[in-house]
Amino acid sequence: MAKISINLTSGTVAKSSVVIGIDLGTTNSLIASIEETSRMPYCITKDEASIVPSVLHISNDAISIGQSAINKMVDEPENTIYSIKRLMGKSYQDVMKGNHKLNYEIVDNDDKLIQVRIEGRLYSPTELSSYILKELKNIAELKLNTQISKVVITVPAYFNDSQRQATRDAGKLAGLDVLRIINEPTAASLAYGLGQDTEKPRTVAVYDLGGGTFDISILSIQDGIFEVLATNGDTSLGGDDFDQQIVNFWQDLFNLENLSKNEKQSLRLTAENAKKILGESGEFHSVLLLGGKNIPLSLNIKQLNELINPLVCKTLICSQNALKDAELRAEDIDEIVLVGGSTKTVFVKEKVSKLFMSAKVNNNINPDEVVALGAAIEADILAGNRTDMLLLDVTPLSLGIETLGGMMDVLIPRNNKIPTKLRKEYTTSVDGQVNLAINVYQGEREMVADNRKLGEFILQNIPSMPAGMPKIEMTFMLNADGILQVSAEEKRSGVQQQVEMKPQYGITDDEIKSMLKASIDNAESDMKTRSLAEAIAEGDQLIYATDKFINQNAHLLTSSDIDGINKHVQILRQAVNAKDRNLIVTSTEELNNFSRQFAEKAMDEKIAKALQGKKID
Ligand code: ADP
Ligand code: MG
Repeated sequence: MAKISINLTSGTVAKSSVVIGIDLGTTNSLIASIEETSRMPYCITKDEASIVPSVLHISNDAISIGQSAINKMVDEPENTIYSIKRLMGKSYQDVMKGNHKLNYEIVDNDDKLIQVRIEGRLYSPTELSSYILKELKNIAELKLNTQISKVVITVPAYFNDSQRQATRDAGKLAGLDVLRIINEPTAASLAYGLGQDTEKPRTVAVYDLGGGTFDISILSIQDGIFEVLATNGDTSLGGDDFDQQIVNFWQDLFNLENLSKNEKQSLRLTAENAKKILGESGEFHSVLLLGGKNIPLSLNIKQLNELINPLVCKTLICSQNALKDAELRAEDIDEIVLVGGSTKTVFVKEKVSKLFMSAKVNNNINPDEVVALGAAIEADILAGNRTDMLLLDVTPLSLGIETLGGMMDVLIPRNNKIPTKLRKEYTTSVDGQVNLAINVYQGEREMVADNRKLGEFILQNIPSMPAGMPKIEMTFMLNADGILQVSAEEKRSGVQQQVEMKPQYGITDDEIKSMLKASIDNAESDMKTRSLAEAIAEGDQLIYATDKFINQNAHLLTSSDIDGINKHVQILRQAVNAKDRNLIVTSTEELNNFSRQFAEKAMDEKIAKALQGKKID
């Protein structure tokens, strides 16, 4: 039973401070909380089940959710909504690309978000999801005997902004205050306590095989920062496909054709049951009345493994592709986290462990519940109840570096949660540049001159390369103590340099406020200054590149060609000197248009030379 705190001086009952995490799944959803004294997460149950199937049945405006809705699936398919998560934040066109067959009616809403029609009324996926969330909220409120509002909800790591926003909106519609949307693999890792060890960075593979989807995420966890290195998966592969394989096997074996809807459903449920039971024992036997005959259905472990082998192999290929994208080998993975009901299948566990041979397998938390449990832990951190874990905070001002023309280029935006780590790639603007000065600033203004300088350093000894060739990766890592680590690495040569700075050091809250105010007051003139700076930088770049082009290709150009180009260069140079933005933009475009013919000529020659096997410069 949850405690209700009472303010002793006023005697009023304080608003509930229950901590809640929600896993809003494609197949199943769960709600979890934190035990007050032990601060251990646990799933809230109804009739002893923690899982609420993410299925709704709507008829005559009456809505039922979960198992009772599943029971209607056969008789009223068009009123029974499942896999609503697949539609979140998507247009009709997006959904059609997915190629998932749905039994209910989806409606094209002209490029806008897709809708579902049930008995003539239109519903948004957000609204439908909100009913599932409301059901979870009711279950929790009944069980905890208190109102709940503040929650953390999880989404797949690959969800885009629109999908995340739709999820957030669904929470709001359900009367919840969504503190944060977090990634499912992050939640699962949190449940295993990964990333709390501040010393050791860990590379974690989160393998999530649910009912209809497979997701693999590679995370790097350090100092409480969860960085998604790569995600991969298959949006139409999951435990339901295992069931289908078993159904097909039995249908072939007993020549089961022309089954009624109800018989098909029973056969499917028997297949799912067989799959689950075979996890524990080696044999499954059952008798089912199909087509007027008693059919003795049986399956053993060996048969099951053979049936699902091609599907499991597919997940392993996705996992290898994720590793490739993260530029890692299987041996680089320190830990695997198994998530999703389908990882209970022993064959799946074995195959995954084999792929990541040197990793520690984390599977002692129920894979159905692990995401919800992790979400509850995140909610507990946000509520400030965990001193043992890093409290995620936000940056009051943007952090970035100076780029060409004195412009501010933001790496960590204002209000970004900390700890955080963000990367961006840059290059040089001049040929043979071997040193690169990196100036770090804080603030919201467009030009660095108006922001606060935090520090600078020089990335030295970059091998001499043409402008644009070096790949300079800047990484900003802001830890929970507010220390900013800035590092720069030229990826081709591996040359690197890093420094630490304290953005909050020596700045008061009042100064932050006045900086924010100044950025609002000057927004318009700042935009103008920035667009002029951008035009000048682009113009300068083009003049530089054109001069270089003439030098390198003099043999292809007549003197009147050169004169013509130079005339355009001259006009652009004058525009740059006059700082006339519009004139710079048009002169840049004109010079580009004029020199295109010569660039094509030079390109043809390069290709011809290459075809002759000569070295091109
Ligand atoms: P989602 O994340 O898509 O909501 P879940 O993680 O809840 O899905 O996984 C649901 C899938 O897990 C279903 O296909 C179900 O059959 C399967 N599953 C549940 N328990 C077991 C088990 N003991 N053995 C094998 N598969 C299981
Ligand atoms: Mg899931």
